[in-house]
Amino acid sequence: KAVPVFPYPLSSITKPQKISMENNTCINKLEGKVAIITGGASGIGEATAHLFAKHGARMVVLADIQDELGKNLSISIGSHRCTYIHCDVTDEVQVKSLVDSTVDMYGQLDIMFSNAGIISKSNQTIVDLDMNHFDDLFAVNVRGMAACLKHAAGSMVEKKVKGIIICTASVLGRFAAPQHTDYCMSKHAVIALMKSASKQLGQYGIRVNSVSPSVVATPLMCNLLGAEATEVEKFVEPFTSLKGVVLKAEDVAEAVLFLASGESGFITGHDLAVDGGFTY
Ligand code: NAD
Repeated sequence: KAVPVFPYPLSSITKPQKISMENNTCINKLEGKVAIITGGASGIGEATAHLFAKHGARMVVLADIQDELGKNLSISIGSHRCTYIHCDVTDEVQVKSLVDSTVDMYGQLDIMFSNAGIISKSNQTIVDLDMNHFDDLFAVNVRGMAACLKHAAGSMVEKKVKGIIICTASVLGRFAAPQHTDYCMSKHAVIALMKSASKQLGQYGIRVNSVSPSVVATPLMCNLLGAEATEVEKFVEPFTSLKGVVLKAEDVAEAVLFLASGESGFITGHDLAVDGGFTY
C-alpha cells in the first residue's frame, strides 16, 4: 500500500476521536500513583494536592514546614488519600527521610512535585542585594529543590520506577527582573536544574519538567505585595495578552497534572509557561 507523502491528502488523516467525559473516562489520570508535593500546605501546592487526589492518586504526601495547615489540608482531602510530613527542604536529611518514609509506607515514589519556594520581601537590585537574604532564598529555592530532585530520582532509579519529576520555576526564570534579583536568579537555576536532570534521567525513563507561572494570588504573592487576592489579580492584568481570565492556583495545578500524567508521556526537559502570554 502506498504511503501518503506530505502534503497528505485530507482523506488520509484520521478524524480525532471525541473524548467522552461520560463514566469519568477523563478522570483518574493518576490512578494508583504515589506523589510527594513540597510546599504542599498552601497556594499552588495545595491546589495540586486536591487535583492529584481527585485524579485517583493512591497517596499524596504533603511536605511543608507549616504543620497546622498541612495536617488540616490532609484531613480535608481524606487520610486514605493524603498525608502530611514535616519537611524543611533546606535540610537534606529531612528531604531524604521524606522520600525514604514515603517509599517505606507506600511502596514506591511515582511523582515528585518539587514546589516549595519563597521570595524575599525587599525590592532589591544588584546594588543593594542583601547577601544573607540571598543565602536564605537560595537554600530553599535552589539547594532545597536540588535535594528534592536528588533523593526522588535516587529512589526512582533504585526501584526502577519510570517516575515523573516536576519543579515549580517561574516566568522570572526566563527573563530579567527589574528587582528581586535573588529570586530571578534562583528560578533560572531551577530551569537549569530541571533540564540537566532530564538529560541525566532520560535513560531510566524518568521525565523531568517544570511549570512557570506568572503571578498567582497565593499567600506568597499577597504577602509580598501587601495586597488582597483581587488587588493582586488586578495588578497583573495589564501584563498578560490573554484578557478576561485571571491565573488561579488551580490553573497551575492543571498544568502540573498534565506533566504528571501519561498525557505528556514524551515530554521531558520542558518548561511549561502558565502565564496567559506574559512572557511573549
Ligand atoms: P505559598 O507561599 O502559598 O506556598 C509555598 C509553600 O512552600 C508554603 O506552604 C511554605 O510553607 C512552603 N515552604 C516555604 N519554605 C519551605 C521549606 N524550607 N521547606 C518546605 N516547605 C517550604 O506560595 P505559592 O505561590 O504557592 O508558591 C509555590 C511555588 O510557586 C514557589 O516555588 C514559588 O516561587 C512559585 N511561584 C509562585 C508564583 C506566584 O505568583 N504565586 C509565580 C511563579 C512561581
